[in-house]
Amino acid sequence: MTENPELEINQVRKSFGSNEVLKDVSLSIGKGEVLSIIGASGSGKSTLLRCINLLEIPQSGHMVFKGETIDFVDVSKGRIKQAKINRLRTRIGMVFQSFNLWPHLSVLENVAQAPVHVLGKPVQDANEQAEILLGKVGLADKRNEPPSSLSGGQQQRVAIARALAMQPDIMLFDEVTSALDPELVGEVLDLMRQLAEEGMTMLVVTHEMGFARHVSHRTAFFHQGHIAEIGPSEDVLSSPENPETRQFLDRVLNHI
Ligand code: ADP
Ligand code: MG
Repeated sequence: MTENPELEINQVRKSFGSNEVLKDVSLSIGKGEVLSIIGASGSGKSTLLRCINLLEIPQSGHMVFKGETIDFVDVSKGRIKQAKINRLRTRIGMVFQSFNLWPHLSVLENVAQAPVHVLGKPVQDANEQAEILLGKVGLADKRNEPPSSLSGGQQQRVAIARALAMQPDIMLFDEVTSALDPELVGEVLDLMRQLAEEGMTMLVVTHEMGFARHVSHRTAFFHQGHIAEIGPSEDVLSSPENPETRQFLDRVLNHI
């Protein structure tokens, strides 16, 4: 396990009815670490991210986030104050495959919205921060445009800026390039690489094996609701020990 982890999840189990989707998943991620999660569709990757953000509540297990323990049984029994859950959520940024920008707001308003409404930031401060973040993601000139005038790659960069505006301690990415036209994938991956180089702690579910190999420090292979293999990305992707990892990589790397 990681020393002084930023986030640790322990023995997480999650079922939907009789379908056990997460089977005793434990994982830790250090501050500034980038961990990729790869694996077949339906193996439980999105559910894991959603559990970390408490969008789903596991039946058992706990997590420790920045030293604070959250027992999932306590959450499901309503023994944890909603304020604590809300505070936790503000510290965890999440970006999805579908960008879900608010269509009636400008690009800048999309980024400034949550800091004002969730954190109570003064509008002017939130707008100034949004300007800076839009500069960072290379979209300062689009600040007054509606999201619909942007390409998919640009919209996803706005969605990343929107998550960063909450100044999260960790960012969760769930297949954020999967819905993009191939020529737009690179600009989003470049931005994620930049965040990684700046030391952001990142948990990245991805089909981009190049990103997993070259940007993430470690890669976990998810198989049927559990982590079948985890290790330094180069090892897992170049010389996997688990036969299922090998089969998966053979399929995705030789899919022509
Ligand atoms: P992945 O992201 O690896 O493709 P998911 O976590 O989305 O996998 O899904 C894993 C399994 O959990 C699938 O069988 C899926 O149908 C099921 N599942 C996910 N979310 C729900 C839900 N809200 N209700 C019922 N089943 C779900
Ligand atoms: Mg998924």
